[in-house]
Amino acid sequence: MRREGIAAGRMAGPYHRGARRPKLWALRADRSGSGLITEAECTTCHDGSGAADDGRGPAVWCLAHAEETGHTGFRRIRTDFFRASCDGAGESVDGA
Ligand SMILES: [Zn+2]
Repeated sequence: MRREGIAAGRMAGPYHRGARRPKLWALRADRSGSGLITEAECTTCHDGSGAADDGRGPAVWCLAHAEETGHTGFRRIRTDFFRASCDGAGESVDGA
């Protein structure tokens, strides 16, 4: 039996148009700037620790804030950076 049509997954994306060889974009951890940034925020009053290069400063801030205000709930915010580059080695981000 003949199958007609093209499976959606096999259709080229718009970035393939006009190129003989598809360009490969890769996403990698960006180590050119800062590394992982950690911040803590109080879930009661939304006061924050500010950004820090390590998690220790924000953790100390949480304890001090709890002692000072009685607020005990905190949100930890971790930010890391990625950079996309064209025709890379084809590595992909594994999601850590
Ligand atoms: Zn608070």
